[in-house]
Amino acid sequence: MISVDAHRETVTGLLGNAPVIRLPLASAAGPGIAEDVRAGVSLPPFDNSAMDGYAVRAADVTEVPVTLPVAEDIPAGRVDITKLEPGTAHRIMTGAPLPPGADAVVMVEHTDGGVTDVRVLRTAVPGAHIRRQGEDVVEGTVALSAGTVLGPAQLGLAAAVGLAEVPVFRPLKVLVVSTGTELVDAPEPLRHGQIYESNSIMLASAIRALGCEAEVLRSVVDDVDEFRAVIEPRLADVDLLVTSGGVSAGAYEVVKDALTGQGVEFRKVAMQPGGPQGCGRWNGVPVVTLPGNPVSVLVSFEAFLRPALLAAMGHAGVDRQRVRARLTEAMTSPAGRRQFRRGFYTHSEGEVTGIVGPRGGPGSHLLASFTQANCLIVLPEDVDSVDQGDEVDVLLL
Ligand code: AMP
Ligand code: MG
Repeated sequence: MISVDAHRETVTGLLGNAPVIRLPLASAAGPGIAEDVRAGVSLPPFDNSAMDGYAVRAADVTEVPVTLPVAEDIPAGRVDITKLEPGTAHRIMTGAPLPPGADAVVMVEHTDGGVTDVRVLRTAVPGAHIRRQGEDVVEGTVALSAGTVLGPAQLGLAAAVGLAEVPVFRPLKVLVVSTGTELVDAPEPLRHGQIYESNSIMLASAIRALGCEAEVLRSVVDDVDEFRAVIEPRLADVDLLVTSGGVSAGAYEVVKDALTGQGVEFRKVAMQPGGPQGCGRWNGVPVVTLPGNPVSVLVSFEAFLRPALLAAMGHAGVDRQRVRARLTEAMTSPAGRRQFRRGFYTHSEGEVTGIVGPRGGPGSHLLASFTQANCLIVLPEDVDSVDQGDEVDVLLL
């Protein structure tokens, strides 16, 4: 048996990094940025007003109330800005450039709101309500560092510093294949001995949620020649093949039988569920083979594929958030294996640690309980039992 960490490293190494492409911001959400990106302009690009009000010299409003002539009107977007003469005010709106000569803004609420003359009711200190050039980002500095994931805030900043495109790792194309002669697609009626196929939609949606592309081949029968004939021609178009089923110790293990000796290695990983795993290259294309039980599939995705795909797409952080939590009930775990159990984690305000309870038993066919889970409880290799109230590691999904 090999360790979970060793297999994860192998899978991550297999995928490597996707090629770098430049995408317009509108299509760039999801992947990590591939290179450091520098700001083309400072943010703010110029000193401007933080309030609707009046640009003044602080020295002119030390004795209040005082009335000043309004010499200019500066809405946001005005670009021909003239100097503020001593003893005058410019009416100014939020985001409009501060006129040279002004060193403070009095908010409109502290005036009579006048248009030709303004009565200022409160004093202002120098710098009041002024947003300084470069306060947020300085032109030429790194605005987004390599590996930063492009979510709404990051895309917003990229837009604000004047970028139209960003360098990202090209989203990987993954071919998802389910194997099993027993598998049937709805709405076809089930005959006794058949089940509905559910792994491919789980894998495809999990893969797409990371920003990768997924193509799906539902239910390939357990026949080695047919498996090879159907899948081999499609390898050239994809970056990764992910299969489920057909890798355990029984007979009719189609994936194992078809790919052993073709560059894919099958091994037992010290985990539960998800022990039988395989990975390698088939015709040069990375292949990750997962076991067939639906819970094993999702746990294997979490343990191996998710971090590998995120790393390939340049994410600096690939791990789920890990927290400690107190167990609501005792559990056992097979010695020498890392157990992942579906759990529900809650954290009340004021508590130092949250609490977590298992959802469903360890059986890897118990998919319904996964739908009630929001985390995986991780019981390490050297633990074979935990008591109610013990603290355990929890991965938040
Ligand atoms: P296998 O690893 O092929 O022996 O499959 C293990 C178990 O998972 C068997 O009970 C299969 O019927 C089930 N299984 C395999 N593939 C799928 C799938 N795509 N959808 C639902 N169940 C599956
Ligand atoms: Mg099977």
